[in-house]
Amino acid sequence: MSERIDGRKNDELRPIKIKLGVVKSADGSCYLEWGRNTVIATVHGPRPIFPKHLADSERSVIDYKYRMAPFSVTERKSPVPAKRDKEISLVSGNALESVILIEKFPNTVIDIDAMILSADAGTRVAALTAATLACADAGLPMRGLVSAVSAGRANGDHILDLTKEEEDAEDAVDTAIAVLMPQKEIVLLQMDGHVEKDEWKKIISMGIAGSEKIYELQKKALLEKYPIDGDINEWNFKNCKFWKCNFKNERRKKTRW
Ligand code: ADP
Repeated sequence: MSERIDGRKNDELRPIKIKLGVVKSADGSCYLEWGRNTVIATVHGPRPIFPKHLADSERSVIDYKYRMAPFSVTERKSPVPAKRDKEISLVSGNALESVILIEKFPNTVIDIDAMILSADAGTRVAALTAATLACADAGLPMRGLVSAVSAGRANGDHILDLTKEEEDAEDAVDTAIAVLMPQKEIVLLQMDGHVEKDEWKKIISMGIAGSEKIYELQKKALLEKYPIDGDINEWNFKNCKFWKCNFKNERRKKTRW
């Protein structure tokens, strides 16, 4: 087993810092530092959808936008959304759609924006992890939290949470995995590279174990801002008890659509 470039163990995450409610103009927001990745995620809505033909009478529409700031990478990136940004937005939006109780808000849209301020690989999972917390901060009722991480292979080892340098290794395999917690349902899975079946199983188990660590950090951040009695556990999510204690629900009740 070779040493990782930054000295981490193979199953170790980069340092993570989370702060909720950083954007006052949004209904919910989250700032996340994950190694050298930095993300801000915001939530606006639910609000009435225009044009009206986009409305769904049975559910809210999730409009998730993943974007990389022009200054997030070494060479200035064009601010125009690339195909990659659109693809990441689509699959991540689908993941959030399966978690938010969208059926509670018919004929509306929920805008979720994730802006990458600095990028060092694993930005789509960092964005999704921050976005789910912004949704919780906005008081949206959810089945649980989306906890996302990358896992894969570099320099012959199976590793968690790849950096850009590791993603650029000749034998690199990079898997983005997002898990609905605490139910442990996979809601997003993407992979770059080639692996054998046994290796694949190893990488997925590493990713699921990594998501559980992310979930613990997410719960800690939520409990810091919204202290409730006891832990946020499965029971809390099932009964939406946690979301009821979030004062922003009061604001939403007054919103008309
Ligand atoms: P993820 O960030 O989710 O791992 P990718 O595997 O597509 O997504 O990208 C890996 C890393 O490559 C990004 O985090 C970023 O550091 C870099 N990168 C991606 N797109 C660009 C770009 N257009 N210009 C420069 N660097 C980029």
